[in-house]
Amino acid sequence: MPEFAIQFFAFANVNNTIRLRDGKLLVRLSDLLEGAPESGRYVSSREIATKVHLVRQMRGRKRIESARGRVYDLEAIFETLNTWYFHGLLARPNMTWSRDHARNSLGHYDPAHNAIVVSRVFDSPQVPRYAVEYIVYHEMLHLKHPVKLRGSRRCVHPAEFAAEERLFSHLEEAKRFLKRL
Ligand SMILES: [Zn+2]
Repeated sequence: MPEFAIQFFAFANVNNTIRLRDGKLLVRLSDLLEGAPESGRYVSSREIATKVHLVRQMRGRKRIESARGRVYDLEAIFETLNTWYFHGLLARPNMTWSRDHARNSLGHYDPAHNAIVVSRVFDSPQVPRYAVEYIVYHEMLHLKHPVKLRGSRRCVHPAEFAAEERLFSHLEEAKRFLKRL
């Protein structure tokens, strides 16, 4: 028997998934079932149908699209950066390409959905991997350094944030590339 890992997961719908990953069986149950009785036709009951509808509306407002783009897999990039720069200690948020091809925002961390969103513009073979990595790295630093209040000013990129950003191995090339865009 493989090892089991079972967790509740904030799917936008009543989803349950079972995957075999690295020899481990990963079972993810919709968190909508957290209060479910052990047996019975819970999912089809009227009460749960209403709950599902509400949650789908709330979570659906920002649909979490796939982390896997045509060229780059954001989850894989996260894991690589996590190992290189964070000793693997950051918990991975939802990783997603934006739905549109917005250029005004490279990426952002959305604490409400615990999601790092990267503009789909960068999911292209013309974009070097280090540029995507830099955008993800920047947002990972936002995960690590939550916004601080200095008096009445919000300090989004405090000194320790900036210092850590300089550790990125292709910082200059990445910035140069993104400026040209
Ligand atoms: Zn920032």
